[in-house]
Amino acid sequence: MTITLQDCRTRDTQDPLRSLRDHFALPPGVIYLDGNSLGVLPKAAPARIADVVQREWGTDLIKSWNTARWFDLPQRLGNQLAPLIGAGQDQVVCTDSTSINLYKVLSAALNIAREDSPARKRIVSERSNFPTDLYIAEGLCKERGLELVLVEPEEIAASLTSDVAVLMLTHVNYRTGAMHDMAAITAAAQAQGILCVWDLAHSAGAVPVDLLSANADFSIGCGYKYLNGGPGAPAFVWVNPRHANRFWQPLSGWWGHAAPFQFTPDYQPAPGITRYLCGTQPMISLSALQCGLDVFTAAQSLGGMAALRTKSLALTDLFIQLVEERCAGYGLGLATPREHAKRSSQVCLTRDEGAGVNGQGSGAYAIVQALIARGVIGDFRKGDGGKGPHKDILRFGFTPLYIGFEDVWNAVEHLRQVLESGEWQKPEFNQTHAVT
Ligand SMILES: *Cc1c(COP(=O)(O)O)cnc(C)c1O
Repeated sequence: MTITLQDCRTRDTQDPLRSLRDHFALPPGVIYLDGNSLGVLPKAAPARIADVVQREWGTDLIKSWNTARWFDLPQRLGNQLAPLIGAGQDQVVCTDSTSINLYKVLSAALNIAREDSPARKRIVSERSNFPTDLYIAEGLCKERGLELVLVEPEEIAASLTSDVAVLMLTHVNYRTGAMHDMAAITAAAQAQGILCVWDLAHSAGAVPVDLLSANADFSIGCGYKYLNGGPGAPAFVWVNPRHANRFWQPLSGWWGHAAPFQFTPDYQPAPGITRYLCGTQPMISLSALQCGLDVFTAAQSLGGMAALRTKSLALTDLFIQLVEERCAGYGLGLATPREHAKRSSQVCLTRDEGAGVNGQGSGAYAIVQALIARGVIGDFRKGDGGKGPHKDILRFGFTPLYIGFEDVWNAVEHLRQVLESGEWQKPEFNQTHAVT
């Protein structure tokens, strides 16, 4: 049955999560489908940041480490985040960047795996994992004389051999939105004595995650994507309590010390997850992240992550159906799995190579630019230019906290008009910028 704009409006009025949108300062005239890259500003954040700056820092100065409870903010935010990722209390801290936290957990996982079994000399990951994850793993391999093995998703099972120390995967693929079965892959790896590190950059706040049920070993994730913590927000890190007092992380700074204000010359790691802190923590950034997490706390009474997931799948189903109904015949394909169990909260469209201006490239970048000029913000991820299996991608994130069904309708209508009019072919949409 054909869907109409009116159907979409009706679905918005029936949406039990509709009120959550009021927590966000969405700019007028914008349909923001890039919350998977940089989440939207929570309305509470500017006043909270101003208070941290003017009162806590400006007036109370150094007293605020105690009076404003700055000192344990990384742990408190970790506890607030924990239910979103199926972690227990005192198992998560918010700190540093995803890249830095990955270095820490990968080092820790390698230490444990190789202490138990020194012949294990490999890290396995996915070839299309997000580059920083691969770069960090490559760096660690160089440093320690290990080998990084990159495979396609369908080759993961066969790659879990007795010489592998760590399997490092990102739960949701940033290019396609495809989601791994965390519990099944973790069990398969652990059956071979391999530890699993999961990157939740595109999962936390987007899909329900259950780290403890999946019995994962280590995990990290991003604060500025679906968690709406602001540009460069502190990331997070989790370790299975099984390893809690055994793991060692190489950035052994004083904030991870058992008693930092004893100022002893030797390092004694704090018990548990606190040892993942390195140096003095960024209070202004952490306070902004707290405003993002507060919205998830508010969503708890409306059904929490389960309700968000239901809405997210309804939004992505609708987008796929409308694109297929209304934008057929323009060289678009679907990179994201249709199967719900394998789909995250984003939809990635492909465009054929040679469909661009004068048969050059795919035109995907220009289509995204033309959409942005109309206020529909998605993003573009480059393919391999026809040399391999990866096509150029138009990427659209659907954050159920603030995206509605009418937004989806309007976004597809803009896409249809951009394609039908050929507007994307204008020269201004075909010039590349530094950040895509
Ligand atoms: C977004 C993302 C990152 C970001 O890392 P930064 O250290 O914040 O730059 C890392 N890994 C994955 C898989 C991501 O999607």
